[in-house]
Amino acid sequence: MLSRIKRKIKTALYDIYRVILTLKDYKEIKEISQLSVLSKETMKNYLAKRCPICQSEDIHSFVKLPLGAPGDQNHSLLYFDYKKVDMDALLKRKDILDGTLGFFLSVPWNFCNKCKNASIGVSFSEEHLLEYYFKYYYRKYGNQPNRRSTKELHGKYLSSFLRETSKVLEIGAAEGFTAEYLAREGHEVFVFEPSGEFKGKLGRSYNLKCIDNINTGENVFDAIYLHHVLEHIPDPIGYIRTLSVLLKSDGILFIQVPDLTSQLEILRKSMKGNIFAIFNPPYYFFDNIKYELSKEKSFAWFDALANDHISAFTPKGIQYILNESNIDAIEIIRSTPDRVIFNPAKYAWPVDEITGNTPNGMTVLARKKL
Ligand SMILES: [Zn+2]
Repeated sequence: MLSRIKRKIKTALYDIYRVILTLKDYKEIKEISQLSVLSKETMKNYLAKRCPICQSEDIHSFVKLPLGAPGDQNHSLLYFDYKKVDMDALLKRKDILDGTLGFFLSVPWNFCNKCKNASIGVSFSEEHLLEYYFKYYYRKYGNQPNRRSTKELHGKYLSSFLRETSKVLEIGAAEGFTAEYLAREGHEVFVFEPSGEFKGKLGRSYNLKCIDNINTGENVFDAIYLHHVLEHIPDPIGYIRTLSVLLKSDGILFIQVPDLTSQLEILRKSMKGNIFAIFNPPYYFFDNIKYELSKEKSFAWFDALANDHISAFTPKGIQYILNESNIDAIEIIRSTPDRVIFNPAKYAWPVDEITGNTPNGMTVLARKKL
């Protein structure tokens, strides 16, 4: 109870601080907001016309969220065209922009009636995304206590399906906690990581092997896993097809992603008290969507439409992606509230202790189609 009150006071103080920052430099922040691809004037040049997953044009704008909301996201620099804007100047103002641009700018999301997934309404080139992850992406909350023990959980789960001394590849290994766990279990672990923030650290880890290119080799790995990575990738079907070539014929593909299905009610709730939403209201429009987005009670955890995600998946949608990628799902496990435990003494965030996934997430175990 006391911690909840403390958290509320902290949020309120930070909201007041954001308003003061915005008022103080109103003219400058407003001018910078007009340079973003999300500004009304430029947005039309960057609007996505097709679903990035299945290429269908049957996509419908269904949610618009103030940039940076909900929560306290720090991805404002993704939304500038690096060829047109002085990024060094923006980089110096990053903290301020992360805290204030949401008063002016919104991130649009589409839902695709064909593949049943959501995707960002802005069309970014692969080059833009690579540049973002390499140069401008950093994580604000990378130092929670118990982060290692939490991230080892999905390594433990994957390990239970592996033969001794398996060859494993992790895509998007971040600080390498899970990969190091698997290496300590005796597996030969390779990591691929595009983010400049983590690349150097992984390279120094004595028991991991860094690779820079995933387009080499066939039938190499016993398992490939992606923990909250697929939602950042512009063409998930093409990507999984590439991975399926790398997998041995009996190899396992292990994917964890947020599950949009159970998160929309949480989203509405968390936007209600959001400071940006008072000045720049969110938008929800489900009439054109041919998919039942669940209203079931779910854990208060929202990460599906985060500002640095390209896609948000549903169980049906992930099934579509696997089918198109030459992969057979063995099992899709949703981390529903009954599976999630919150034990701050042991884990950094609420987690499904069996699969190691976050609340309202999906764990996919799959194999190559025979
Ligand atoms: Zn689609």
